[in-house]
Amino acid sequence: MEYLRVWKEIDIEEVKNHIIMVEDKYGHCPGCKQIGIELKDVKKCPGCGRVFKYATSKDARGGKSDVVVRTRKKLPELVFVDYDDYERVTGKKKAESLFNI
Ligand SMILES: [Zn+2]
Repeated sequence: MEYLRVWKEIDIEEVKNHIIMVEDKYGHCPGCKQIGIELKDVKKCPGCGRVFKYATSKDARGGKSDVVVRTRKKLPELVFVDYDDYERVTGKKKAESLFNI
């Protein structure tokens, strides 16, 4: 199987509520700030119970794929979201709510 970056319309709130941040060997839940989450076959956050459907990682910035491949192997159920896209869209959303655009 090959890796392709696919663009799709997606509800950012849905992603924000179900994403895990992957850092090297462990994960971090942006919901409850729990760190050190064991990645292998994790389905939900041990801290707050959020169901993980998406993953992203700072290490994937600039289109680097090593972490994507590693994460997909450990968590094949999750959709890997491009970190730059995620930051761009959530940053934009933040600015919108700030300035009420
Ligand atoms: Zn959590």
